[in-house]
Amino acid sequence: MTTYPTFEPKRVYTQAFCTPDDIVLAEAVRGFVNKEIMPRRHDLEGGWHRDEKLALDTVNHLYRGLTELGLAQLGVPEAYGGLSASPFARLIVSEEISRGDIGLATMVSKIYWATSIMMAGRRTDLMQEFAPRIVTEPWTTAVCITEPDGGCNIEDPAFAFRTIRTVARRDGDDYVINGHKIWPGPGGQPDHFSGADLKGHLGYWVVASTDPALGPDGVGIFFVPPDAVGLGFSAPYQKMGMSWTDENVELWFDNVRVPARYRVDQEPGQGWQILKGQVVAFGRLASAASLVGLSQAVLEIVLDWTAQRTIAGTPVRQRSAFAMMLGEMSRDIDIARQYYLTTMWQAAQRGELRELYGRAYEPEMVAKCSAARSFAADVAEKTTNRAMELMGADGYAYDNYVEKYLRDYKIVRMWLGGPHRDRLDIAQALYGPYPWPGDASGESSTER
Ligand SMILES: Cc1cc2nc3c(=O)[nH]c(=O)nc-3n(C[C@H](O)[C@H](O)[C@H](O)COP(=O)(O)OP(=O)(O)OC[C@H]3O[C@@H](n4cnc5c(N)ncnc54)[C@H](O)[C@@H]3O)c2cc1C
Repeated sequence: MTTYPTFEPKRVYTQAFCTPDDIVLAEAVRGFVNKEIMPRRHDLEGGWHRDEKLALDTVNHLYRGLTELGLAQLGVPEAYGGLSASPFARLIVSEEISRGDIGLATMVSKIYWATSIMMAGRRTDLMQEFAPRIVTEPWTTAVCITEPDGGCNIEDPAFAFRTIRTVARRDGDDYVINGHKIWPGPGGQPDHFSGADLKGHLGYWVVASTDPALGPDGVGIFFVPPDAVGLGFSAPYQKMGMSWTDENVELWFDNVRVPARYRVDQEPGQGWQILKGQVVAFGRLASAASLVGLSQAVLEIVLDWTAQRTIAGTPVRQRSAFAMMLGEMSRDIDIARQYYLTTMWQAAQRGELRELYGRAYEPEMVAKCSAARSFAADVAEKTTNRAMELMGADGYAYDNYVEKYLRDYKIVRMWLGGPHRDRLDIAQALYGPYPWPGDASGESSTER
């Protein structure tokens, strides 16, 4: 693997957004990725024969290494023992880890997600409960949105959250949750997540409604411990990639009782705002950063390969047809990177500028974050496919890793509503939600 000076963190991360400390952090992560993750990318999937023990040992060992670098603590304020890093630091860390493996970056991002949900709800009590675990040991956690009848629908503003079927009813000092979620990850039996390198599963941040007919007013985010009575799990889904970094399961909630303080949103309207802002919009923005890291890795592979492969005695990258495509890949990746950083800058503004750019949950900001993800996803699609075609059979071969990156980019493009909802959400900031034929709600979203 060649080191390309032009791709060094201090050259790619614009100092308009990132502090010198952020860049030092990115360099430390780059070093860890090159030394520890790059040589073990195949082991993360258990090698060619998909050996589950090898996969889990590698995933948990590398995740521990990432948490020992302090990466899970980045989003935790110093007041709770964390590092109070800027959101830019978290995004560039996600980009850097994704250069090695986007599934490991997803594991770290899940902790950022949970932290930002609690912070958005201004829940100091929950931070005091969970932060001590997050900052000391490697824990994992998951956010549950998707349901059998509603993946994209839950994210579709035209439905105004009325399609959520997981219901949380107040009962005295508790909420009682019934419903069915699909695809949250990592998920499963609690003992599966404890071992030498992984301390445990923190639990699930579950999007539910107190009454679907209430639309936005019914939306809540409920923390459900992994060993809650009435919580059932399927076996992990078998899928195209991220088999052990993001073990996805189905969850059943059969009268699961949680204390009322585990409802994160405590103010009217806060539930849908956190879902739309911290979960969907910022989840898509973080996905953009990860897709850039993945594309960067593929560009480096193809740069190396085209230097070694000769045709008629000349390295193929010296031929203009190849050079043009390599130049275009590099251009696109850098545009996608500067785009997600600019979007983050707009999202991070307060005061008057926030009025200008919109709050996290407002259609303008959802559109910006969706645009950053959809652009980065298009770049990843083009980069992985082009690289494979430029490398011919070597691109298709397991040994050269392009096939792994090609499998991995796909789901990061599709989750949280996917490429179609990304584009529809961009359009909805221009002219409002676009109702689906047969939309029975007959009501517009309060977000318009
Ligand atoms: C590896 C992996 C990890 C995942 N992790 C999580 C997780 O941690 N938590 C979680 O909750 N979910 C998770 N998911 C689920 C994922 O977010 C959803 O699959 C995704 O949002 C799309 O929903 P769906 O699959 O139900 O597609 P559907 O909603 O069935 O949509 C299928 C297609 O129909 C179209 N469509 C349908 N309805 C609409 C609409 N209203 N607006 C626009 N287009 C529409 C879209 O083109 C879409 O691509 C994960 C999935 C995978 C594979």
